[in-house]
Amino acid sequence: MRTVYAINFIMISAQGKPARVVLLLAFIFVFASPAFVSAAQQRVKVVASIPPLADFARQVGGDKVDVALLLPPGASPHTFEPSPRVMQEIASARIFIKIGAGLEFWADKLIAAANRNILLVDCSEGVDLIRDAAHDHGGLHGADPHYWLDPVICLKVVTRIENALIAADPGNTALYRKNAAAYRERLVALDREIAASIKTFRTMEYITFHSAWNYFSRRYGLKVAGVIEESPGKEPSPRHIGAILRALKKMKTKVVFAEPQFSPKIAEAIAREGGGRVLFLDPEGGLKGRETYIDLIRYNVSMMEKAMK
Ligand SMILES: [Zn+2]
Repeated sequence: MRTVYAINFIMISAQGKPARVVLLLAFIFVFASPAFVSAAQQRVKVVASIPPLADFARQVGGDKVDVALLLPPGASPHTFEPSPRVMQEIASARIFIKIGAGLEFWADKLIAAANRNILLVDCSEGVDLIRDAAHDHGGLHGADPHYWLDPVICLKVVTRIENALIAADPGNTALYRKNAAAYRERLVALDREIAASIKTFRTMEYITFHSAWNYFSRRYGLKVAGVIEESPGKEPSPRHIGAILRALKKMKTKVVFAEPQFSPKIAEAIAREGGGRVLFLDPEGGLKGRETYIDLIRYNVSMMEKAMK
């Protein structure tokens, strides 16, 4: 097939410009050569819903995987609307990795329509989920899906992704095992680093923008004193804002946390009224300087240090 193309090309271009012909032929041979094609084909195409999962897949898969991210950085999974590009990504993927627990409430139908053969990895399986009616999309789950903000839980998530890659691409089992083990060690070190930082806090209470921080708080002994948007994307009532203000006045810190995926206007108004200031926590990641999970968690701990140390 490739030879036929090349011969046709030489015949058509026989009286054309020789330099361009050579260049184009070189292009065809490089990109159609068996070595190039097999290297590209061997890569496992993985689609992940949120940046931390995409990072885990890259950490474990290395150069044996092509990882696509469904949610553009800065988007919230709670208010996400899939585009035709998303359908294409899923249609051509071998593995889809999701948080589950109702976070990607838009994903299941999409996958059924786009790709029935995809290997679906629901990372919430086996996780000790926190019950939370506020995050209940359509009455199906009733669970808080933000467990990825607990690095200890992510040890299991990484293992789940490691097993999925091995199932899809058993030829690289040893590499996936080695990468996953090395990355889990980094998560263990991260967990120790966070615990050491939190020991220096003068207060354990904080006000968050949406209820993303329950797992992190459970792990490190923090207390969420108030949540501005109890249902993500839905504006709080004046009565609820009043309750947040009363909580803020009793607290040792005068910081209200906003999040980059949502407008900071309400957090700013509460901070003004309560004589405090606004800092940003980021539960999703993917933005500049926090593309990797470890950088994302470190960023959040540094913001908490500013507010609570
Ligand atoms: Zn959330």
